[in-house]
Amino acid sequence: MSFIAEFDLIEQIKRQCDTTTAGTVLGIGDDAAILQPNPDCQLTVSTDTLVAGVHFKETDQAIHIGHKALAVNLSDMAAMGATPKWVLLNLTLPDINRKWINGFIKGFAALLAKYQVQLIGGDTTQGPLSIAVTVMGETSNAIRRDGANLHDLVVVTGEIGSAAFALHNPRRSKACNQQLKQPEPRLDVAKNITHLATAMIDVSDGLMVDLGHICRASNLAAVIELSQVPINSIIQKDKNWMAYVLAGGDDYQLCFTINAEAEDELPEDCHIIGQIIEPPNKESDVVMVLHHHQPITTNFKGYQHFDDEKR
Ligand code: ADP
Ligand code: MG
Repeated sequence: MSFIAEFDLIEQIKRQCDTTTAGTVLGIGDDAAILQPNPDCQLTVSTDTLVAGVHFKETDQAIHIGHKALAVNLSDMAAMGATPKWVLLNLTLPDINRKWINGFIKGFAALLAKYQVQLIGGDTTQGPLSIAVTVMGETSNAIRRDGANLHDLVVVTGEIGSAAFALHNPRRSKACNQQLKQPEPRLDVAKNITHLATAMIDVSDGLMVDLGHICRASNLAAVIELSQVPINSIIQKDKNWMAYVLAGGDDYQLCFTINAEAEDELPEDCHIIGQIIEPPNKESDVVMVLHHHQPITTNFKGYQHFDDEKR
């Protein structure tokens, strides 16, 4: 990529991503950004990479890719009970495709503006299409994975399994497609539950795997009732519905635990699906699944990179 092209591109990004937030001393343009975080808060930092052909299809609309690259990072802030404030954008592009870049920046900038997050820098290089976003947020009450207590209730937001359904059935449901292509980070719910949640995670790799992370971090286990898990009615009729709900990834809903006495304080769109229990003897059974009170055996794995690695 020529120097001029890179410079122009950075200027365009800067012009279109113009949301500013308090605490930014210096944004895009110097060797580094300068931030002044709120002294009463802790800084939370996270990064996620989207690779063409792995996390999105090259034929996906650029505006959706721009949205999703930021959304998955904002979702990590939601899952920590943090308010996202700043992001860095590392773009690796095969070439300067104006149309693609315009779409991408549009999707990215719209979400920045929606959640009042400032783009404060990044890097631009040439190579196979990949997008890495680093997000920084502030919290005075971080919700970690290791805080679940025995007998806590397990709660999820929204609907689970829609993104996986859409991935395998691209033309069947508009709502599920939207969930896959343009997930909305659940910052709306997160900000209202930071005083309730004892542990939290976002559902990116599949419900069983992600709830399993809370269980392992907290040295406990969970039992969930499948009939209580909120799902889109179209999934119900699909023969693979259980796999979508239990092991489909990419939902970016929240899964969290609360003390049973806090049930009445749950905000809208929060659904109790189970409870935290004593850990079993076998590591593999950390999440037990019931369907209409009957235990079901599953061997679903969530989404795993390096699945074909020779062992
Ligand atoms: P350096 O050579 O010092 O790394 P760059 O030319 O890479 O500087 O970047 C110049 C400025 O533009 C820096 O402030 C950097 O953070 C910013 N920048 C570069 N690429 C991007 C991008 N994709 N998105 C946002 N800011 C970017
Ligand atoms: Mg650089």
